[in-house]
Amino acid sequence: MDGSLTSTQTRPLIDRFGREIRYLRLSVTDRCDLRCVYCMAERPDFLPKAQLLTLEELSAIAEHFVARGVRKIRITGGEPLVRRDVVQLIEHLGRHVGSDLDELTLTTNATQLTGLAERIARAGVKRINVSLDTLDADRYARLTRGGRLQTCLDGIAAAKAAGLAVKINAVALKGENEDELADLIAWAHGEGFDATLIEVMPLGDVRTDRADQFLPLTAVRDKLSERWTLTDLPDRTGGPSRYVRIAETGGRLGFITPLTSNFCAGCNRVRLTCTGELYTCLGHEGAIDLKSAYRKDGLAGLESCLDQAMATKPERHEFDVRRGAAPAVSRNMARTGG
Ligand code: SAM
Ligand code: SF4
Repeated sequence: MDGSLTSTQTRPLIDRFGREIRYLRLSVTDRCDLRCVYCMAERPDFLPKAQLLTLEELSAIAEHFVARGVRKIRITGGEPLVRRDVVQLIEHLGRHVGSDLDELTLTTNATQLTGLAERIARAGVKRINVSLDTLDADRYARLTRGGRLQTCLDGIAAAKAAGLAVKINAVALKGENEDELADLIAWAHGEGFDATLIEVMPLGDVRTDRADQFLPLTAVRDKLSERWTLTDLPDRTGGPSRYVRIAETGGRLGFITPLTSNFCAGCNRVRLTCTGELYTCLGHEGAIDLKSAYRKDGLAGLESCLDQAMATKPERHEFDVRRGAAPAVSRNMARTGG
């Protein structure tokens, strides 16, 4: 294949609310080498490897989405870089960047980047998101249940050296990292990185009441405004972030606010799990079994699944983080693909 799919282009993916799907989040594994307290249980039940889509299947399905008008793919997980040979998938899909794909990107905890950043950059990835919630080594070890901060920082440095644009994503956690969010942002901007803050979402049972973790970003923004001058920006990167420029650091800061400001009206995304389930909304249980359809009927099977997905994509999530509220969905973010 020459990397161009335009000749097979068929109907665009448009849901019943008129939203066009241009963005696929592709989860390649539910496994991870960290155990972030807001994401997973301490001893998660990982899926049997036999249930996973092969890398060839992931490629073929992703390319079918591209043929149906998807312009951006984010590889995620679990930790995508712990899946063996995942770089081959990145290299394969990277051949579409600049023609059928505007962007191929990655969300990672950076632990494997030291060895992989250069290859990833050469494959056509230009920007990556790195999850980092603290610059304090003890806190990092506690939040990730055993991770080593320096490994993450070394991975980030390798990404920077390889020419990748880095965005630091931090989940704002009440009583945990709220006292250092400004310092984390200042560090990211000093390194030349964008930063984004994320509200914790009630996804999966992590044995903690989400009300104890939830920190509204409206309050964080007010606090940051006491220290810095924040100016709203019109920038959109295809995701749910709303951006501001901070005059004093010169950097860009995003806010992802699923709880305090619903962003579903502009949703252009669907998520494919590593077992081939298609979720059209992060906050709903319903999934479409793309793997069985593809294994049974090939591309024709995918076509009918995608039509079904467009007919059933929910209008919005219904997240609730009030004390005692049940998780919105039983699966965690690592299972769905963050
Ligand atoms: N392992 C990779 C990483 O951490 O970047 C990719 C997968 S991770 C599930 C993707 C993103 O989801 C991370 O930025 C993580 O902080 C975020 N995340 C996980 N659970 C979350 C939750 N319950 N609420 C909000 N964000 C969450
Ligand atoms: Fe792993 Fe990412 Fe979940 Fe942390 S947020 S446990 S790094 S998948």
